[in-house]
Amino acid sequence: MHDEVKSAVVNPYHMAVEQFEAAAEILDLSEDMREVLRQPKRELTVNFPVRLDNGRIKTYTGYRVQHNVNRGPAKGGIRYGPDVTLDEVKALAMWMTWKCAVVGIPFGGAKGGVICDPKQMTPAELERLTRRYTTEISIIIGPHSDIPAPDVNTNSQVMAWIMDTYSMHEGFSVPAVVTGKPLSIGGSEGRNDATATGVLFVTRQAARRIGMPMRGARVSIQGYGNAGAIAARLFHHEGCKIVAVSDTRGGIYNESGLDPAAVLRHKQERGSVVGFPKAQHVGVQDVLEVPCDILIPAATEGVLTTANADRVQARIVAEAANGPTTPQADKILFDKGTIVIPDILANAGGVTVSYFEWVQDLQSFFWGVEEITQKLEMIMNRAFAAVAEKADEFHCDMRLAANMLAISRVAEATQIRGIYP
Ligand code: NAD
Repeated sequence: MHDEVKSAVVNPYHMAVEQFEAAAEILDLSEDMREVLRQPKRELTVNFPVRLDNGRIKTYTGYRVQHNVNRGPAKGGIRYGPDVTLDEVKALAMWMTWKCAVVGIPFGGAKGGVICDPKQMTPAELERLTRRYTTEISIIIGPHSDIPAPDVNTNSQVMAWIMDTYSMHEGFSVPAVVTGKPLSIGGSEGRNDATATGVLFVTRQAARRIGMPMRGARVSIQGYGNAGAIAARLFHHEGCKIVAVSDTRGGIYNESGLDPAAVLRHKQERGSVVGFPKAQHVGVQDVLEVPCDILIPAATEGVLTTANADRVQARIVAEAANGPTTPQADKILFDKGTIVIPDILANAGGVTVSYFEWVQDLQSFFWGVEEITQKLEMIMNRAFAAVAEKADEFHCDMRLAANMLAISRVAEATQIRGIYP
């Protein structure tokens, strides 16, 4: 049993490039095209001062990276965290490009991040940091150029501050500059649950493929935030048994099943899932190895590695998090017959409903939650079927299949637009 939080040796950008090269090789992409797609189109680093509540001024570093915009404006979340790096943001931006392409929505990929520790900051400090960071990156974001969204340690309140700051500069409200906003200022029905809802839709399809009933299936989840806690609720509602969950402080396990709503209340009151009554305490990484049928990594990158992949017991790994599995671990899992639904497919429900939010904001015409869920299910099922068909055709894992599908679509758009000038 071990408690390490994040494998420091995994460089997400190296991982992303390795995955890209594997697909590019099979697609027989020219070296010229590979060079275009391998690197982000634009990387912005900003260093900016924020006044703290105690009167002191602290300078923070933030990034906004746009990977590729040939299929549409750049789209991608903003994360806050002490270990955010430029390479991480570059990897996440590249994955966003492939994600939008794999589900067929008209966006390119971007990502942003600020190195800070939001748990040590007051709400007022977080608001000033967000408004200043927004101002610094406003030279490249906009409703038709680059549209941020929430990610790790950011939420709808942060999105509201971004929308307000950008709108103050423009002189009028620009809701379409950011998605994941509160409903009262142009957010979309269904956005909060969208990532986890999409994970559920594709997991149902994967379970059907192997003839595994969802009812009674044992589920283990790493991370209990937007993606993880909502997945726990939805999978529980589906009839699955949530046997283990974790957050940065540790994990809890109960083979008879946990009540996700009670765990969430415990986390809200105590700041962690740890200490939840009637559950065994396990390490952060142990939830990846407990006996279960479905494993949902919903925390961070590089957690399934050569060190633990052979001990994964789940038949299906549904990647709610971005980049949780290293390329070497992918091989181990594929050889074991584990179905890995890759991040760019599994968690694409978030960006898909973000796309709906953007369309609604631009039209100032809003849809009901039934319509949104129905459209989301159609898009997720269609993408799953296309990826599964490709995986069958090439006898490969679903990540390679999804990357091949996505990269060929982006390469086609790049080719057909031509190289300017
Ligand atoms: P969040 O901040 O709401 O929650 C993250 C959770 O993971 C927290 O419970 C935190 O304690 C836990 N965590 C962080 N590092 C951990 C670690 N090393 N081990 C165990 N737990 C850890 O973030 P989120 O929005 O739920 O994002 C989680 C993952 O899902 C990220 O990879 C993110 O990129 C991805 N994702 C999120 C969305 C979305 O709409 N929020 C969409 C697509 C993908």
